Amino acid sequence: ARQFTRPLNDLANQWNTLLSAIAGAERVFEIMDEEVENKDEGQASKLDKIEGAVKFEDVSFGYDEGQTTLSDISFEAKPGETIALVGPTGAGKTTLIQLLSRFYDASSGRITIDGREIGSIQRENLRSHMAFVLQDTFLFEGTIRENIRYGRLDATDEEIEEAAKLANAHSFIVRLQGGYDKKLTNGGSGISQGQKQLLAIARAMLADPAILVLDEATSSIDTVTEIKIQQGLQRLMKGRTSFVIAHRLNTIRQADQILVLKDGGLLEHGSHDELLAQGGFYSGLYNGQGVQEEAGD
Ligand code: ADP
Repeated sequence: ARQFTRPLNDLANQWNTLLSAIAGAERVFEIMDEEVENKDEGQASKLDKIEGAVKFEDVSFGYDEGQTTLSDISFEAKPGETIALVGPTGAGKTTLIQLLSRFYDASSGRITIDGREIGSIQRENLRSHMAFVLQDTFLFEGTIRENIRYGRLDATDEEIEEAAKLANAHSFIVRLQGGYDKKLTNGGSGISQGQKQLLAIARAMLADPAILVLDEATSSIDTVTEIKIQQGLQRLMKGRTSFVIAHRLNTIRQADQILVLKDGGLLEHGSHDELLAQGGFYSGLYNGQGVQEEAGD
């Protein structure tokens, strides 16, 4: 409940709160606009398994009437590709993810997953095919084991450990007093920011979704943990279509596609090498000082 009662400083914060909630809780539905949430759900279908092909065709959206927050966004992600979302604060990166996860529906254009319009897929079902690893991990009052199990409620203890090992979280967990049975209080006040992320990776690993959304940490995390996180993320992203709100140059450089958003439009689109060769905005950021500070936020 803490997540929803503390004052929200800004929209980004609010989005993190929302996403943290989906990472595990149905509670998100309580805070969603019911009218938007329940529209058309009767007709919508459920998909058992998806490949993770994602296509945006001329997608536009505004939070308010007459306002355009995203305009004419088109791109196609093949299953398993990594898509880096880059651009200044307010460019529309988060909004794009909100449309993909159907917190809002596009005002025009089409978004499809495996060729199916996402409006025809039940929201809950759609989100069950996605996992979110965010800067601010949603942890509830319960044991570490329960917090990881949130990724998939019917997982066995062995599966939870396996996921934690792949995520590089196991070694820190077993060193805690109580290990997997250690109770987390206050959103995980007893563990570090980096360790929270390792738990989020373990949870997502357990959920085993076809689509991932990652919001890279901007806060500084000690080098050893950072390396563990990067390695855990690489294992997690393998074989999944991953959308990364990217702050780190390395992530951006390795992405299959970079979407450079600016003022709600898709300014540039291509691989790192292609965008450098174009000599445009991205290349300016890269050659200027630090795509690292500017490209993310
Ligand atoms: P980014 O993630 O690239 O920083 P956002 O997608 O959060 O950008 O924001 C794009 C624009 O939409 C910004 O101008 C922002 O103020 C606005 N915006 C974001 N969320 C909302 C909202 N819930 N209601 C109204 N406007 C919003």
